[in-house]
Amino acid sequence: MSYRLLGHVAAVLIVGILAIAPLDFALKHRVGSGAFAAPAAQGAMQPGAGIDGAKIARADSDPGEWLAPGRTYSEQRFSPLSQIDAANVRNLGVAWQYRTYSVRGLEATPIVSDGVMFITLPWSIVIALDAASGKELWKYDPQVPGETGRYLCCDVVNRGVALWKGAVFVGTLDGRLIKLDAKTGKPLWTADTVENHNKVYTITGAPRVVDGLVVIGNGGAEYDARGYISAYNADTGKLAWRFHVVPGDPSKPQESKALQDALKTWDTTGKDKFWKIGGGGAPWNSFAFDPKLHLLYFGTGNGNPWNRDIRSPKGGDNLYLSSVLAVDTRTGQLRWHYQTTPGDTWDFDSTADVVLADLTIGGRSRHVLMHAPKNGFFYVLDRETGALISAQKFGLVTWAKGIDLKTGKPIENPDARYKNKLAVVYPAATGAHNWQPMTFDPQTGFVYIPAMDAAQPFVPDKNFAYRPGAWNTGVDFAGVSKLVLNLIKSGKAPAPAVGFIKAWNPVTQKEAWQVSMGGSWNSGLLSTAGGLVFGGDAYGTFSAYDAKTGKKLWSMDLKTGILAPAMSYEIGGTQYIALLAGWGGAGGLSAFRDPSTALSKYQTNQGRLFVFKLGGAKQVAALAPEGVPPSEPPPQTANAAAIDKGFDLYHRTCLVCHGFFAQSEGEVPDLRLVPREIWDQYDDIVLKGALSGGGMASFADVLSKDDVAAIRAYVLDQAHAAWTQGHPTKKKLPGIARP
Ligand code: CA
Repeated sequence: MSYRLLGHVAAVLIVGILAIAPLDFALKHRVGSGAFAAPAAQGAMQPGAGIDGAKIARADSDPGEWLAPGRTYSEQRFSPLSQIDAANVRNLGVAWQYRTYSVRGLEATPIVSDGVMFITLPWSIVIALDAASGKELWKYDPQVPGETGRYLCCDVVNRGVALWKGAVFVGTLDGRLIKLDAKTGKPLWTADTVENHNKVYTITGAPRVVDGLVVIGNGGAEYDARGYISAYNADTGKLAWRFHVVPGDPSKPQESKALQDALKTWDTTGKDKFWKIGGGGAPWNSFAFDPKLHLLYFGTGNGNPWNRDIRSPKGGDNLYLSSVLAVDTRTGQLRWHYQTTPGDTWDFDSTADVVLADLTIGGRSRHVLMHAPKNGFFYVLDRETGALISAQKFGLVTWAKGIDLKTGKPIENPDARYKNKLAVVYPAATGAHNWQPMTFDPQTGFVYIPAMDAAQPFVPDKNFAYRPGAWNTGVDFAGVSKLVLNLIKSGKAPAPAVGFIKAWNPVTQKEAWQVSMGGSWNSGLLSTAGGLVFGGDAYGTFSAYDAKTGKKLWSMDLKTGILAPAMSYEIGGTQYIALLAGWGGAGGLSAFRDPSTALSKYQTNQGRLFVFKLGGAKQVAALAPEGVPPSEPPPQTANAAAIDKGFDLYHRTCLVCHGFFAQSEGEVPDLRLVPREIWDQYDDIVLKGALSGGGMASFADVLSKDDVAAIRAYVLDQAHAAWTQGHPTKKKLPGIARP
């Protein structure tokens, strides 16, 4: 059966499953839509034709444009525009909006040049809009196979495009890097960035173009990836160089001197050979660039498996996991490294954004790099040498007491590692700060961080066995889920995860102010010369704060949870603020329905791009009502042992998309709420991939028919519990830390 035909079948079934309006996205865009009409853009101009390294480097002389994901190579995400300011922001309203017809996370920063805006949607779809009116100019769908969804740890998201000499560059979920004509959306070249198709490699990040090279990293370190970044000639698409983050097979020569050095920090005697089952370090998000030094900076991901006792049983720092690396763009060779979490075992990716600035520290002007990764420390490094200048905790951190400034290494809490025991640590695997970008405001000197405080229980997987194509973390998620369930039952659940915007002074390494956000998993941030910081939260509230004091000056309910950072541009003398709203990502997928919060607001979760200006509309209408309650589930015929087995299997295999306890927050089907006929199709869906076109791949390689029956028994048990309570959203569960 062709993908497209299968897609039609899937579409019919999916619409049945959800009975929720947002799935019109599946009909219109994912399934059977074929190509994507590409009418010519308005006017004769080739958008972004003048963009090259020199133009991006002097971006401040084009304050009305937003030329790169972080606006500039320094990734400060500070707009020099000041028409919208602290005095008038109360008059901010919606100039126009664009419906994306998506129900998954929206994470991209819009790029604007020559009056055209470029955004990306879930499934790596690229859209060009008239930045003044919101009129769609073209749409490009790379037709990522729906089955790819299974290989994304953290949603089928995309964080945006790069624009360079009249072309748009996008990385796709299945690992392609595609160059498009910025005027028509027609593909010009495609490079396959995946060096080993037997392993899981994905792309969710935005490419950057530096020194004429398009650079992109990959994800996959929850599965079995060996991380690397690739640099392609922007004109020809030819691979210029590739930098691997962790060593490969130690019996063979390593690709670089840096890897030869790194190999000494790994134990190669383990039963599970790390070079066969992964290694990790996937650099899936951040880049910054210093054009004078020709240094490209990027953050690297967690170890794969997470659990170091499996990956490198005798210990070791395991370079270059969880690090900031500086690579010379001319050679592709490592200049320096700074590892934020040596011997990572907690999924402490160092892939949060990297921000460059010049600061006066101790009376000296320093060219610095700032980084606030998952592990909860704010680092200031010398960006020429990688030397540590300072590091302090910016949130709740228990895995380490502090950072030793002499050695540059953390002073670890001896109880933080989970060798043969449970360990509960702050921050959680979602991090004290994840990919959602921070912003540096040169006017206040503060960095604004979308921060989280959350705890994470880690239980070692004593029976770890490598499963190609599945999660290989070495953490027993069934054990973790059981533990959380017992804590809930005993009334001792950890404190709920909470989120903040923190204003951080990078010179004094002290907090200037903080505001609490509605949820824990909130949006990236923008600062502007109008003295404002813009941020949104999980519940759909988008707000402007006084950059000096944190006082909330304006807010609007956008009716959909917000993850993406806002940006700002100017056309015809009017300053605009643009923001994609659509909830999902790691926090969105794994969070379960929590009635103690106002989740009903974003259960509709319909993606939209909002563009604001002074004097715009003051309210936003919701697009669709809440999901319809289920019919009565079929009778339970399984016994308690099968349901218990199902609990284990579900939390090992299904939870990462469908949520803890089979309760999802609406973007991936809540399995308790499916229509009755779906209960008869579990084998077809889970083993034969009947819904693979919609993103639900076959799991026949990791689950048996008996396993599926057990999972069904567990989910059905949960469905009956929900049915008994009359309406699932009224089910009372105590607040717990969101994983
Ligand atoms: Ca990770």
